[in-house]
Amino acid sequence: MAEATTKKGQPLDRGVLESVLRRRLFYTPSFEIYGGERGLFDYGPPGCALQANVVDLWRKHFVLEEDMLEVDCTMLTPEAVLKTSGHVDKFADWMCKDPKSGEIFRADHLVEQVLEARLKADKDARGMTIEVDEAKEAKKKRKIKDTKIEKLDDAVVQEYEETLAKIDNYGGDELGDLIKRFNIKGPSTGAELDPPKAFNLMFQTQIGPSADRPNGYLRPETAQGQFLNFQKLLEFNQQSMPFASASIGKSFRNEISPRSGLLRVREFLMAEIEHFVDPEGGKKHPRFEDVKETKLTLLNRKVQLSGSTKTEVVSIGDAVSTGLVDNETLGYFLVRIQEFLLKLGVDPTKLRFRQHMANEMAHYAADCWDAELFTTYGWIECVGCADRSAYDLTVHMNKTGAPLVVRQTRAEPLVIEEYQVDLDRKKLGPKFRKDAKAVENAVEALSQELREKLSLDLEKSGKIELQTPGVGTGTTELGSDLVKIEKRKRTDYVREYTPNVIEPSFGIGRILYSLMEHVFWTRAGDEARGVLSFPPMVAPTKVLLVPLSSHPDFKPFVKKLTSRLRRVGVPNKVDDSSASIGKRYARNDELGTPFGITIDFQTIKDDSLTLRERDSTKQVRASEDDIIAAVKSLVDGEETWEQVSKRLPAFEGQEVD
Ligand code: AMP
Repeated sequence: MAEATTKKGQPLDRGVLESVLRRRLFYTPSFEIYGGERGLFDYGPPGCALQANVVDLWRKHFVLEEDMLEVDCTMLTPEAVLKTSGHVDKFADWMCKDPKSGEIFRADHLVEQVLEARLKADKDARGMTIEVDEAKEAKKKRKIKDTKIEKLDDAVVQEYEETLAKIDNYGGDELGDLIKRFNIKGPSTGAELDPPKAFNLMFQTQIGPSADRPNGYLRPETAQGQFLNFQKLLEFNQQSMPFASASIGKSFRNEISPRSGLLRVREFLMAEIEHFVDPEGGKKHPRFEDVKETKLTLLNRKVQLSGSTKTEVVSIGDAVSTGLVDNETLGYFLVRIQEFLLKLGVDPTKLRFRQHMANEMAHYAADCWDAELFTTYGWIECVGCADRSAYDLTVHMNKTGAPLVVRQTRAEPLVIEEYQVDLDRKKLGPKFRKDAKAVENAVEALSQELREKLSLDLEKSGKIELQTPGVGTGTTELGSDLVKIEKRKRTDYVREYTPNVIEPSFGIGRILYSLMEHVFWTRAGDEARGVLSFPPMVAPTKVLLVPLSSHPDFKPFVKKLTSRLRRVGVPNKVDDSSASIGKRYARNDELGTPFGITIDFQTIKDDSLTLRERDSTKQVRASEDDIIAAVKSLVDGEETWEQVSKRLPAFEGQEVD
């Protein structure tokens, strides 16, 4: 699949789609009359309605169906939290600067763009088709002046393709090496580029008037707020495990070079789940049985590392049992993510799950898969699904001392044989004075292995040596008058563990844009007549009411219908302009309105109405009550148009253009 096509197999013209989306105010650049600001967009009425419907479906599909605990945490986040989580030090992309022009590029994107441009030139020169990874093709947003190289050696083509397949796996030094090795220069100047530098993506800010320096950040993800509330949520959940929290809210990332419309922006809506699971017992999921036959299209890390992007269709049951997907809980969520995306109207042939390569994943992650959607920009990561192990809860607990753990009474008490240390505190205090506590802490922190070794030392020489940083020379000697180490039995009635976290993380804007590409097509023979085939559940407006003309006799019918539809919760709009019915319907096809009701002279006589379906333009005619009931069940997803059009009489009248 080298080029994106519409569901009717037409080449997808992004320019046409984007002009529809902007003209109909799905979204628009923010602050445009001030010249706009890159990476910031406002949503207009249909965009807001679409987003609200997608979020609503997300809540129903995840929060309600899975009984998750929703929280709404603040976007302003104190520095200490993000320092502990690792974001202050590590949440960065690699940028490189053209010293001549001052232009800044995201290093991995620049390498991709240049290699793809060269491969394209080579392909054109050869006059043949080669397989270019569409994912990377996508990120090509500007013309690269790199036309010197055209026909390439086969070995070079292979090297470029392999590099592109692994592009997400490279760090700063490796990107710097690639830039040198492939002789990549400043695109507009031809100058040697500065080596890649890490650029932290968080927006720093000052919380409160008395801070004398920036002391906080706008959150780059909603996750941290959920982790910090873990203990309270566990209590709210009556200590019952596993459970998941969920959150929907804005996140902020100071992207190095935001492009591709809604796909890479600096402020975006995220919907995230943190599923807390016991790490013992293979991270099983109670509902895995229900989904294990579901097939997913997977691109695993081994294939990528071999320089290819070939996918395989595998049932999640097989993927988990062979170890391709790390555990049941992760696998369960991959299926639920797929189900959600398909419910929205995503094209199943344009959906794949790509596994992260080792360097791409955070060091603590056990496994990570991205749900990617194919668009005119290539394969785009729209949902990330990572097993973050116990990392987040552990670092926050270590830093704050808060018990971010689960304590469970054991079904069977556990008898543990261990080395225990007794200190004579009465003697310790006077001997070490202000350092006594530090010495005591050092003793408490001793591992079982060290305790065993020290017990032998104590037996042999009557003393032990302890590492006590900050106390005297850093080593402290304790004699057998102060310390005793013995192997004893202890019965443990409570098991304490730090849960692992499986995190599905959705970028709503990316999903919205990709969905709009997937459902867009134009009527045969008329490229100007765009249609957005949203499923009724997510369409911004469900029904268009079209009186045949502005004849005053139609008005009471329109009024009655509008209020009846509102009463049953079906959003509708009236178009009583003087344009022809065909034109009015065409305008609403662009907004994705799935149904239209025409009020004509027959309505006045017998209260009957016609109901039109957007994609087929087929119509049925029936009484007002029947039409309202049909619309309601179509919009609620209880019936399909096929079913409705079978049970209600067809109406063969023409749409008047
Ligand atoms: P991450 O935490 O980087 O895995 O991102 C989680 C999700 O947020 C991704 O799957 C995207 O859908 C979305 N996302 C990340 N960065 C951006 C961005 N700059 N613009 C829009 N969406 C984004």
